Amino acid sequence: MFHMLIDGRLTEAPHHLPVIDPSNESVIAQVSDADAETIDSAVKAAVTAFEAWRTTDIEERRQLLQHLAKALQENADELATLLVSEQGRPLPLAHFEVDLARRYLEFFADQSLDVEIIADDSNSRVELHRKPLGVVAAISPWNAPLYLSLSKIAPALLAGNSVVLKPPPTSPLSVLRFGELVANLVPRGLLNIVSGGNAAGAALVEHPQVAKVSFTGSTATGKLIMRSAADTLKRLTLELGGNDAAIVLPNVDPKAVAPALFGAAFFNSGQVCAIIKRLYVHDAIYDALCEEMAALANAAAVGNDAHCQFGPIQNKAQLDKVLGYLDDARQHGRIIAGGHRLERPGYFVALTVVRDIDDGTPLVDEEPFGPILPIIRYTDIDDVIKRANRSELGLGASVWSKDLNAAQAIAARIDSGTVWINQHCALDPSIPFPTRKQSGIGVESGHEGLLEYTAPQVININKVAAI
Ligand code: NAD
Repeated sequence: MFHMLIDGRLTEAPHHLPVIDPSNESVIAQVSDADAETIDSAVKAAVTAFEAWRTTDIEERRQLLQHLAKALQENADELATLLVSEQGRPLPLAHFEVDLARRYLEFFADQSLDVEIIADDSNSRVELHRKPLGVVAAISPWNAPLYLSLSKIAPALLAGNSVVLKPPPTSPLSVLRFGELVANLVPRGLLNIVSGGNAAGAALVEHPQVAKVSFTGSTATGKLIMRSAADTLKRLTLELGGNDAAIVLPNVDPKAVAPALFGAAFFNSGQVCAIIKRLYVHDAIYDALCEEMAALANAAAVGNDAHCQFGPIQNKAQLDKVLGYLDDARQHGRIIAGGHRLERPGYFVALTVVRDIDDGTPLVDEEPFGPILPIIRYTDIDDVIKRANRSELGLGASVWSKDLNAAQAIAARIDSGTVWINQHCALDPSIPFPTRKQSGIGVESGHEGLLEYTAPQVININKVAAI
């Protein structure tokens, strides 16, 4: 049994949700499905804990993050194994996630929130302070639950806030276990972890004593959260969907560039917000690159044996969406690798490459969030930049070119939070990860990400007032 962490106690709610291993469709655990009353008790505990934590010195907060990082490291094998069973993904990929989560804790443990002096002369002194906001509601999605939860907890706690975290309903186990492992390290009520479905998330977001919502998930849910946050004007960081374009210039060698493009399109079986989801390739190398990508997809090992690099779709609802996109691919393009669900238990889909498909089709215009890559032909650079920018989403993009100056000139014209050059999805705790358009609001990661968990406060002193 996996417990929630509320007010320093490991606890359960009256109702439960099954958790399914997507590699064999078996129920592997039951977790609490928190109701509004349980959410309320977690928020109230966080409100109380905040009053003490907001006055702590930053050194004490840093130490807590270091203790959490150590706990993560010491229990990395267990947590990675849990990630494998709730995600179905290969073990090395699970270890990669645990390690990334630890690096977030360590990065933020090194950050400072120094007072900025805006002006200081004989008449006045103006200081800019960074204050905590209060209770942060952190809500994470199923594709990388541990890392996307800890990347919120770390900056929130360092800035002096308390937290109520809700992991995703279909892969909550690693996060709940982390809560059990650190329950005795964290001051009572400072970090609360509540499991549950979408209604639990909604109850958390609507709670009037929550000051900020840090959400990673779909654009549709992000919009609901923005609406419900309006009543009490909660602060928001929304990291939402992506439909990243990659533009490949004709000066690259198709054989040389293909492995990197392939890795950046199919990582975690395509279930990553900022990977390549639309691959625009110049006509001059289109056929050759399509061939290389298809060969790599056909050679990839999909499954859950030790040698496999690609796991299943994480849940049945997402599998059904992905199968819908496969139908679309058959209708509007030519499938040159994959194109089917694997005939075995589990939600496995063969890595799929689709050529001769164009903008204006669901597979290109929407976010499939699965192992299907459309490759789109272009001839004119101005036109392809326009097509890349046509999306309502603007999370990431990339340009692939031997000529770095040409690539940088193109990058400057793309409307996305990040543009990578000759790589994609190169994320790091120290690098801000901003959003544009309907991919969200605000920034996660880096020092800029930390500032999102603070309220600026100006102290403006008149040194010569006659009073
Ligand atoms: P989702 O929006 O369905 O769910 C995300 C979380 O929100 C879950 O914990 C869910 O229970 C909760 N939730 C659902 N309805 C809610 C509501 N009304 N109020 C509050 N919480 C609610 O997303 P998902 O399907 O779990 O994740 C996939 C999506 O996440 C994709 O679109 C992907 O691009 C996006 N994503 C974005 C990033 C990023 O950094 N931008 C990273 C990973 C995933």
